[in-house]
Amino acid sequence: MKQTLVLASNNRGKLAEFSQLLMPLGFELLTQGELGIQEAEEPHATFVENALAKARHAARASGLPALADDSGICVPALGGAPGVQSARYAGEPKSDAANSSKLVETLTAHANKSAYYYCVLVYLRHADDPQPVIAEGRWQGEIIATPRGHGGFGYDPHFYLPELDKTVAELSAEEKNHRSHRGQALRALIEKLT
Ligand code: IMP
Repeated sequence: MKQTLVLASNNRGKLAEFSQLLMPLGFELLTQGELGIQEAEEPHATFVENALAKARHAARASGLPALADDSGICVPALGGAPGVQSARYAGEPKSDAANSSKLVETLTAHANKSAYYYCVLVYLRHADDPQPVIAEGRWQGEIIATPRGHGGFGYDPHFYLPELDKTVAELSAEEKNHRSHRGQALRALIEKLT
């Protein structure tokens, strides 16, 4: 039997990515936008709290099981920043270019350029589910000052993978999905759900 799930995001790219792996397992995904549900606040200091808040909001408003993600880039030399502030690191209005420039500039004073992308997924069977299914993914790399490549989004042109001698912006979409923090988290979630 098909199980309908609400995705607590309106991002078409994420919908396609998540549907591709979840449809064969009998899940049908709807975005919260399709159901007329407003986006939830993301006021928390940790990814998992924000993802949980988003999933709970979507499950409560829809009466359906819900899946939410939260992701960002963390830099150990900066105490984990930009972290949950990744989308707005350089302030409003949101700008990938300004965020990347701020990160590169802030890191000039630090020898350690290591960074990782992080993604957490939260699945709730219903809004008051006391046992959320939580999965995470982490993708290690280094920040380089000179951008390379035109694919991806966000910090990808500055996120360098030494083992491939490429930035994430130089990977194909398939290769990125295969290796990314989001791909890892989704595969881990599926393992827990099945
Ligand atoms: P969200 O959780 O998809 O809203 O992502 C939050 C922010 O983290 C994005 O706006 C980007 O700045 C950053 N981010 C998350 N995932 C990626 C990625 O795969 N590539 C580049 N930036 C990312």
